[in-house]
Amino acid sequence: MEVQKNIPAFIENDLDSKETLEFVDHVRHCDTCMEELSVEFLVLVGIKRLDSASAFNLNQELDDLIDYNEQRARQKRQTSFFIFIGALLAAIIGGYFLSGIFRK
Ligand SMILES: [Zn+2]
Repeated sequence: MEVQKNIPAFIENDLDSKETLEFVDHVRHCDTCMEELSVEFLVLVGIKRLDSASAFNLNQELDDLIDYNEQRARQKRQTSFFIFIGALLAAIIGGYFLSGIFRK
């Protein structure tokens, strides 16, 4: 399934912001995928940390990761929206000045 295929990419933070938001939205409502995400998170992250004491708050860390990725994806989308509005305004103002020049 699409969502479960994206789990490793989500954990590594490799999804784009649209995919991240879809992913987060899905796992929050789908127990099967959430379960699968927990397992893969434990395997991927837990293995890297076997020697460290911090290995055992992974469930909390997974929650944090989900929140963090969602937040970041939201901000990214907002930023590109403002860039779009900025470019649009620049084009309108630029066009206004240009048409003023040519009218003379
Ligand atoms: Zn699912």
